[in-house]
Amino acid sequence: HPGRPSAEGASPAMAQWFALKSENPDMLLFFRMGDFYELFFDDAAAAAAALDIALTARGSHAGAPIPMCGVPVGAASAYLSRLIRRGFRVAIAEQTAEAPKARAGKTPAQKGPLPRAVVRLVTPGTLTEDELLEAGRSNLLVSLASIAARKGAATSQWGSAWIDISTGQFETASCDATDLEHLLARLDPAEILAPADLSLGDYEARRASAFPAPAAHTARARLAEAFGVASLDAFGTFGDAEAAAAMAAVDYIRRSQAGALPRLGHPVPQSERGSLGLDPATRASLDLLRARDGGQEHTLFAAVDRTVTAPGARLLSQWIASPLTDVSSISARQECWDWMRHATGKPEAFRTVLRGAPDIDRALGRLSVGRGQPRDLAALRDGVRAAHEAATLAPESKSAGKTVPPLLAEAFKAMRGCVALFERFEAALSEELPARIDDGGFIATGFDEELDAHRSLRDDSRRVILSLQNEYAQRFGVASLKIRHHAQLGYVIEAPTAAAAKLRDVPELSFRQGTASAARFSTAELADLDSRISEAAERAAARERQIFAALTQEALTDPGLPALAAALALLDVVQSCASLAAGGAWSRAKVEDGEAFELEACRHPVVEAALGSGVRFTANACSLAPERRVMLLTGPNMAGKSTFLRQTALAVILAQAGLPVPAKSARIGVVDRLFSRVGAADDLARGRSTFMVEMTETAAILNQAGPRSLVVVDEIGRGTSTLDGLSIAWAVLEAMHSTLRCRAIFATHFHELAQLAETLPRLSPHTMAVRDWKGNVVFQHEVVAGTARKSWGVHVAKLAGVPGPVVDRAARLLRELEQDHSVGQRPLPLFEDLSPTPAAPPASCEDDDERADEVLALLSRMDPDSMSPREALDALYEIKKAM
Ligand code: ADP
Repeated sequence: HPGRPSAEGASPAMAQWFALKSENPDMLLFFRMGDFYELFFDDAAAAAAALDIALTARGSHAGAPIPMCGVPVGAASAYLSRLIRRGFRVAIAEQTAEAPKARAGKTPAQKGPLPRAVVRLVTPGTLTEDELLEAGRSNLLVSLASIAARKGAATSQWGSAWIDISTGQFETASCDATDLEHLLARLDPAEILAPADLSLGDYEARRASAFPAPAAHTARARLAEAFGVASLDAFGTFGDAEAAAAMAAVDYIRRSQAGALPRLGHPVPQSERGSLGLDPATRASLDLLRARDGGQEHTLFAAVDRTVTAPGARLLSQWIASPLTDVSSISARQECWDWMRHATGKPEAFRTVLRGAPDIDRALGRLSVGRGQPRDLAALRDGVRAAHEAATLAPESKSAGKTVPPLLAEAFKAMRGCVALFERFEAALSEELPARIDDGGFIATGFDEELDAHRSLRDDSRRVILSLQNEYAQRFGVASLKIRHHAQLGYVIEAPTAAAAKLRDVPELSFRQGTASAARFSTAELADLDSRISEAAERAAARERQIFAALTQEALTDPGLPALAAALALLDVVQSCASLAAGGAWSRAKVEDGEAFELEACRHPVVEAALGSGVRFTANACSLAPERRVMLLTGPNMAGKSTFLRQTALAVILAQAGLPVPAKSARIGVVDRLFSRVGAADDLARGRSTFMVEMTETAAILNQAGPRSLVVVDEIGRGTSTLDGLSIAWAVLEAMHSTLRCRAIFATHFHELAQLAETLPRLSPHTMAVRDWKGNVVFQHEVVAGTARKSWGVHVAKLAGVPGPVVDRAARLLRELEQDHSVGQRPLPLFEDLSPTPAAPPASCEDDDERADEVLALLSRMDPDSMSPREALDALYEIKKAM
């Protein structure tokens, strides 16, 4: 097998490769060689295919050429991002010592390959590089762990922890096995650590390749140690499984950063109870952060997002992904933007300041894993400056008679922090910053005496060299003579070959090298200068790196900085809401503890935005007050049912996230769980039929919804025969109304269900208004009390382009069916006695004769000359039917 050769007989460099590969068998090994990362054997074949780059060979091993491909170090992040997106994980092996430098003309002697070590694992959940991250989205590593149940307990306890190492966010929760799927749907992890026997369903592809099994009994102690506290209780209450999951995540991150633990906020236990329950199917049907087409354009997030910074966008996504259930926390958020809109009148001013604010969290993230650059320090400085500026825009404590809401007052206070840090960074950093630390020159002159001394020695020496050059040129009479720095030889005199003859005889010059066009000489004076200059330059660079490390440390340990960053993100979300609400089309919902549910003139923000100019969205009221908590919604396809269902669900999410709602007014008794089943549930890929999926999801609702839940469902029972479907829809509706006692909107094709209003007192039948215009249907998108009188299915089929003859045939069949049943005494038109399309096989010869007679009679009655094409077609159908 070419991919699994043994290390025996390998060249020294390849022996290193084998050793590193065996430590990281599940990763592609990026093996640093000069300016390239090279991949070998199977890694090379996989990467070359994934990146569409050339697969070549280098040297040979065990008598066969070694497959190889490489990517330039400078462009590595683009390649890495493609590999990560394709599900690969990468181990990066760097040279851990510098190639020995040339010094004063001596050529370095090097024995064997440079030492190399894996310095980093690049996996989807452990990214910190800007190029690999989406700015406005959290990048979460989620860890799940279970602790075996105590004797007698039926289920084991699960714990979860999630970390965004690009920002240091670290949260944990305890949950039941049934909550795991919800949790994953809410967090949308980049990578998941989970026990091998736990199936991850749709998230299987995001499973990390190696799971560090958490040692439950030591997890608490180790976690406390990692965060420098005596007991984990300092941070709140953690379940055993929660602590184990958290520790597993920390271990994994430590491994990915080659032992170094990046700056992480301490773990914050989240109670899952404080947030609105949204199961995966609900999230999928509502396009909250990602649309069903995978894009971000037609999402709730895009419709409400007016943030101007990446941290603000991330916070807004978090709010949307987990709305609250605590009334006071909800109104604390609402107060902020309401205040900004009314009392300050200047969301615009805050916006302008925020626009220039850099991403402090991610800069800190990079600094903490040793991948920081000068611009990251500058980002901290500029971020703090923006915060200070924003804070000056805040009114003292009262403005226009309204006090600053507590949440914002606290944020403004945090924004005024980090003064000392700011002043230091302001003094430390040069105006022009190089891209990389190694380029040097990012620390301003005057900040550090020692650095200044090394630098002036270095720069003075340069001046000395210039004057030396003039002196030599005059002394030796060679005007074209130059002093140059040469990588191997150091400082040398360089003269054109023509002039070189003159210099060869000068005793103080020693000839070093000749090329076709120039000759190079050195002098004792130059050699001395050379070492002084390079020493000074090296010392300056080393000192600068030292200062960088010190400043980084100060930033990482400044307790005010994370709070300041969080405050800026909050301010951004608040101004986003205030701007959104400023136009008057969005309002502040009244969220309360009771059972109220009234939306006045509510809209679907995403559908509305997609309608474009010229077409007006029809706003609709929705009342699910206790005495009519279940709405039965009928109406033809395309009339706007799903839009209405979804907009009601979205209004709840926005209201409970503390965000403005797209309605004239809204009063909502807090919803504990929201279930939305709208739109075709296609799960055929997982081998379940549409009907099976529909019933599984219905079961989930019936098992979980309670009196404080809201359920919006579209067409339960559509996936089976009419009778089956009707019966199921009927039973589900009854259960919601009388057993679960939840608030619900139940959209259906079964108009017959409206009759249930007679026996179910809290059922209120509504329908989508349609107008009949010359036999064609006109959708008004308006929800009105009542029941649809007809389905208009045939008309919609026509609109959709079903061929005329089929539409006509359907229309005739429909008329016949309706007549049949209008005379019958049964309460519901049931279809079992209808034969399918005519043309049963003939029963006997007499029958045949009879039919022939009938056809002849029909034909004789017809006058082809006077028939319209339509009548002729109808006639043809009639004849066919008689046969
Ligand atoms: P249904 O679920 O009844 O089949 P949809 O809700 O999918 O219908 O709506 C069909 C289309 O009608 C939508 O894509 C949208 O373009 C338009 N529409 C729906 N509701 C409204 C409304 N309230 N105002 C304006 N147009 C609407």
